[in-house]
Amino acid sequence: MEPEQKRIEEDLRGIVAGEVLCDDASRALYASDASLFEVRPLAIVRPRSAEDVAATVAWAAGRGIAVHPRGAGSSVCGGALGPGLVIDCSRFMRRILATGDDTIRVQCGVVASQIEQHLGRLGRTFGPDPSNPGVTTIGGMIGRNSSGSRFLRHGAVRDRIVALEAVLADGSIVELGPTAVGPPRSAIGGPGAGIAPLPAAARHEPLAAGVAAIVTAARDTITRFQPAARAAHGGYRLDDVLATATAGSDPFVDLARLCCGAEGTLAIVTEATLRTVPADGAVAVALVLFDSLARAAEAAVRLRPLGPSACDIFDRRHLALARGTKPAFDLLIPPVAEAGLLVEFTSDAPRACNSRLDEAMKMMQQGRHPCLDIRRAEDAVDAAFFWELSRNVVSTLHGVRAMVRPVPFIEDIVVPPAALPDFLGRLQGVLNRRQFTAMLFGHAAHGQLHVRPYADPRAAGERDRLETLAGDVYAEVVAVGGTIGGEQGLGLSRTPFFGRLFPELAAVQAEVKRLFDPAGILNPGRVVAASDPVTSAAPFRPALPAVPAPEAGGPAPADSAPAALPALLPLLVWPGAGLNAELDACNGCAGCRATSAATRMCPRYRHAPAEEASPRAKANLLAAAVAGRLDGSQLSAESLRAIADTCFNCHQCRSGCPAGVDIPALVMELKGANFAANSGPLHTWLLSRVDALSALGGAVRPLANRAIASPQFRWLLEKTVGIARGRKLPEFSGGQFLRWAQRRGITRPSRRSGPRVLYFLDTYARRHDPLLAQAFVSVLERNGIGVFVDPRQVAAGMPLVSEGDLDAARRVARRNMRVLAEAVRLGYRIVSTEPAAVTCITHDYPRLLDDDEAARVAAATCDAATFLWELHREGRLRLDLRPVPTRILYHAPCHARSGGVAVPAEHLLRLIPGVVLSADDHGCSGMAGTFGLSRDHYRASLRVGLDLISAMRGGGIEAGATECSACRIQMEQGTTKPVVHPVKLLAKSYGLLAGPGPRGLDEILTATSGTLTTS
Ligand SMILES: Cc1cc2nc3c(=O)[nH]c(=O)nc-3n(C[C@H](O)[C@H](O)[C@H](O)COP(=O)(O)OP(=O)(O)OC[C@H]3O[C@@H](n4cnc5c(N)ncnc54)[C@H](O)[C@@H]3O)c2cc1C
Ligand code: SF4
Ligand code: SF4
Repeated sequence: MEPEQKRIEEDLRGIVAGEVLCDDASRALYASDASLFEVRPLAIVRPRSAEDVAATVAWAAGRGIAVHPRGAGSSVCGGALGPGLVIDCSRFMRRILATGDDTIRVQCGVVASQIEQHLGRLGRTFGPDPSNPGVTTIGGMIGRNSSGSRFLRHGAVRDRIVALEAVLADGSIVELGPTAVGPPRSAIGGPGAGIAPLPAAARHEPLAAGVAAIVTAARDTITRFQPAARAAHGGYRLDDVLATATAGSDPFVDLARLCCGAEGTLAIVTEATLRTVPADGAVAVALVLFDSLARAAEAAVRLRPLGPSACDIFDRRHLALARGTKPAFDLLIPPVAEAGLLVEFTSDAPRACNSRLDEAMKMMQQGRHPCLDIRRAEDAVDAAFFWELSRNVVSTLHGVRAMVRPVPFIEDIVVPPAALPDFLGRLQGVLNRRQFTAMLFGHAAHGQLHVRPYADPRAAGERDRLETLAGDVYAEVVAVGGTIGGEQGLGLSRTPFFGRLFPELAAVQAEVKRLFDPAGILNPGRVVAASDPVTSAAPFRPALPAVPAPEAGGPAPADSAPAALPALLPLLVWPGAGLNAELDACNGCAGCRATSAATRMCPRYRHAPAEEASPRAKANLLAAAVAGRLDGSQLSAESLRAIADTCFNCHQCRSGCPAGVDIPALVMELKGANFAANSGPLHTWLLSRVDALSALGGAVRPLANRAIASPQFRWLLEKTVGIARGRKLPEFSGGQFLRWAQRRGITRPSRRSGPRVLYFLDTYARRHDPLLAQAFVSVLERNGIGVFVDPRQVAAGMPLVSEGDLDAARRVARRNMRVLAEAVRLGYRIVSTEPAAVTCITHDYPRLLDDDEAARVAAATCDAATFLWELHREGRLRLDLRPVPTRILYHAPCHARSGGVAVPAEHLLRLIPGVVLSADDHGCSGMAGTFGLSRDHYRASLRVGLDLISAMRGGGIEAGATECSACRIQMEQGTTKPVVHPVKLLAKSYGLLAGPGPRGLDEILTATSGTLTTS
């Protein structure tokens, strides 16, 4: 840490109760957001209270250091970036404080979906709906005056603001709201002004008077340049902040509304009181397709009088991208469609909104230019799917692993809705003239457009080209009466343009800024241009230096000195466009910070929502290492390890990230580099050898089983190997299964004709639950599948990968690859009863081994449930199943979900007569392989898995079912109920597991060894 950082850390830690981060790794995490910019902050403060924010601002003000309030960091225009102190309100200030009949009081770090969920239970809603509600914080939404597709129905955030608690530029905490304008009592103290002229609670009064004076003096300018048609966006909204409640009463200035949309430049919001309204009772949605964008825009104008709650417009490229992301969109949207409108009506009663949608549809089908087609949502599932066009498609843009891609720079413009068709023609003209193509999406009914030109922002000269294009496009916006910086703000991208387009208005806004923040420390460079070069022309994130391809079959030597570590990267195989393309694919959209139960995103982040725990942090950290901003000593440091260790390799983010960034592989790089320099404490090393430990336990089975039940031995085990003594452990069974398999003759290649499977054994089935392995073999044979259990195979090695011991993992992978590749060449499918083993073979081996066979083996590998479900879909699974009357809670493990197909095991269980299945999602189990075994993470693991454990305890559930052995351990942790692999239930239903009791689950299902009837 540099001396300056050290000093800042010491100073700030003495005055704030929250966290202060000054290390290079943390600064790298906060240097970017969802925009093109990259600016490394001096330090980060994560306040716990308004007092922390106030102390930070006062400290910074005294030293002339800028502060940048930040929520989720999902701004696409660099709203929360800067070279000063970033104040991250999203970590601790996340509480809903009070709920009234029609208001709610929240802290600034509360996420929008959290508010909506809370209000939904009361039949109410907040309303403004940015397309990323699971991520965006209310502080960021206020900072931005966010809105969304339903602007016509709910308006923007400022339409729902009642009052704000905020910290002013001198560090005083005030409650802002409508403030009567009297004669100024005194000017506000400047930064570091020492003795305050007014009590803190009254500091806002002179501000209100000052705003009234500025607005009164500039009334003509404001009326001329900020008409209502400009939809209240683009800088401070001054046209309606000075008002009178009733004729003849004293005027007041609504300071809360003024601060809404100010991008943190006038005050830092710490709490907000928001107005709530009754939730909509019914919704009707349709997707209307057109043969041209102009016709879609004209149709949107015609629809407006019917009062849709939303009317989003998509161009041809957006529709094509959607078709490419999901086959269901491919079926829904014909390639001839050049544009689409997503139209929604809401009402209290379904009949009313359906009839309004009918009317709208009729209108679309009539006239000189009828639409091409209409797809109407039949139910809520359909409607949610249609809404993905607005919600998710834009984030998938960066999934394209190419340098030229649609970029957020022009992005956010507002034109009067009636001018939309005309403006689209003008836009096309500019794009043609400047030789750009662009993608367009917008909220047509209120004229809000997001235009993303295709560009390579890191190429030399591209920024100039983009700025020229933006200048030309904005000129057309102004020509049709529009403005810039609609729902996403001016930020670093548009503030310089705003000053040029509206110099008179910008001058008035600068006066307001000076009134609130004379020294310019509150988020400078946003709304009002800054004088310092870093914020007035903030740099784009630079291109990453080319990384060398790894040596064939492996990485650079692991014994290199720590100082040379960045040169070690990459440690893995990155086919195609390479590691840099993967890092570039992360657009910082913050989608991986989603924490709602509805989104199964990162479980670690969900339970400890700090930026470093987010998947995005891992991409940012590795990018910083590749770019050389973290030197070798930092890569090997404990602090980096701590960040990498917030990932427990569950792979949820891999399927959840809209851009498909392979975060688990990026974490492998980080952990691998760290491990190469510093192999960590003995107990983590031992835990990564859990497969060997299980083999050892099996060799001395009676002794080992007695030992794991002894408190003294468990204490010793915790101290030496690091396995938490409170964790229930499965008994050892030794090598029973392989002996059984040998006797059965399946340890030699199968002589059967027809489909054949090589059963890839994991440690659990092999060492702890041989009955599961026997059940699976029997189920396969029952269905005519030839089974081969190659005794040369070894455990997949996932714990080694999770630890970062890539050399050891690679040795295991090579050994297994010889066995598996041979089997695949002979026509075997590779199937495992353990989803984590499948993930290791399909995801990790191709990254570890520079070997074409690895990809072929991966393509031929799947988990048992997927394989059996495929058989069923092909009509080849026998259905002579007997009832197994029992009430089961099924848990889909993360690794099974990340494979893409989440539910085959659930489907299989539904085939079994008598099984009453509860398959609600209770999130991640929190085990993640050895993570939940470890004494260091035992409690965190239980916290993550609490929902699932509680569900298991619920009445009406007799047993649990899951494919993952680690999840099974967790599900059994808090209950006495058994948890089984779905394959065992299937075997039982086939009558392959002999045992007493037709009712309920008998001991055969819970047993780990037992008798098996043969098919
Ligand atoms: C995929 C995607 C979709 C999006 N869709 C929409 C959309 O539909 N509608 C929309 O309006 N925007 C949208 N945005 C833009 C952005 O997410 C929103 O503007 C959002 O409200 C920002 O919230 P945040 O918590 O990420 O704030 P940040 O990005 O962290 O900050 C945003 C601004 O608010 C300021 N700020 C943050 N906290 C405070 C505070 N406590 N007090 C004062 N100022 C503060 C920051 O300084 C910054 O200027 C989208 C972005 C992405 C990446
Ligand atoms: S990892 Fe994916 S979801 Fe997360 S910020 Fe990057 S692109 Fe967005
Ligand atoms: S693999 Fe799991 S724990 Fe790791 S970043 Fe992704 S979602 Fe989070």
